[in-house]
Amino acid sequence: SETPVTVLGLGDMGTALARALMKAGHRTTVWNRTAAKAEALAAEGALTAATAGEAVAASPLVVVCLLDYDSVRQVLEPLGDALSGKAVVNLTNGTPQQARDLAAWAAGHGAHYLDGGIMAVPPMIGTPAAFLLYSGSPDVFADHRAVLDLFGESHHLGEDPGRAPLYDLALLSAMYGMFSGVLHAYALVRSDGVAAADVAPLLGRWLTAMSGAADGFAQQIDSGDHATGVVSNLAMQSAGFVNFTGSAGDQGISPELIAPIGDLMARRVADGHGHEGLSGLVELLGAGGPGA
Ligand code: NDP
Repeated sequence: SETPVTVLGLGDMGTALARALMKAGHRTTVWNRTAAKAEALAAEGALTAATAGEAVAASPLVVVCLLDYDSVRQVLEPLGDALSGKAVVNLTNGTPQQARDLAAWAAGHGAHYLDGGIMAVPPMIGTPAAFLLYSGSPDVFADHRAVLDLFGESHHLGEDPGRAPLYDLALLSAMYGMFSGVLHAYALVRSDGVAAADVAPLLGRWLTAMSGAADGFAQQIDSGDHATGVVSNLAMQSAGFVNFTGSAGDQGISPELIAPIGDLMARRVADGHGHEGLSGLVELLGAGGPGA
């Protein structure tokens, strides 16, 4: 029969994860600091635990989805050796270092630790649109793959528990960059009396057209060759960028969401790289690279 699963944390995401488990017929035990959040799930058939310790004791597989690593530490640390032999899958957002530290702590208490990052919002859980990134124990991933696949498409990125949060933060960084631009775009058109909804269809089309740039940038960044060929040299882009900050000033809106990349472009041009492309800005960010 299906593996019993415990879910610690019933925020928006933990609740969606628990529902996906229950829908697939898993005996699902839930716990949340604020007990009232378990009531709806209990009515749907979840088992509720009065304490996190009771919840952990109920299943060999424990899924953790709390606000941040501080809350994970607060909940797990008092449990100590009660985690021994358990498979712990932590889907809480954090840094690579936090994941490595928690994995080491968990190993010290005999737990088998898998870290994860959820590339989905709660309504996407259990749909083909969702994917999740995992790193840490290959055994936990292999043994519980069928359960993990209930949440979304599962990707194991290696034994270093920090790898999933690394990728997660990278993907979310790109998302926030995109969202920053979208919010600035709407502020700009609204400052001239145009509704955001009027520009939204063209904006969506434009973002889709430009999303392919990520692959080209990756090749240039990995090769260290930022030459553009015939596309969009940086001197041209930098010359045009003053229109973004300039128009913001004219229209009385703050340029703070988009100004930083303009400053980096100007620096890169001043450094003599105006004939290259935008990917060269990465050289100003202080990253090494594979083998560096
Ligand atoms: P919510 O804000 O909805 O829920 C937060 C949860 O954390 C609640 O269960 C809350 O309990 C609990 N919590 C907070 N502090 C503590 C603490 N000190 N001790 C015990 N429990 C605590 O967040 P989400 O469910 O949306 O997100 C959970 C995790 O999932 C986060 O790390 C988030 O980054 C990640 N995630 C969320 C996505 C989303 O779109 N929602 C997408 C991808 C990842 P209580 O009810 O008692 O306050």
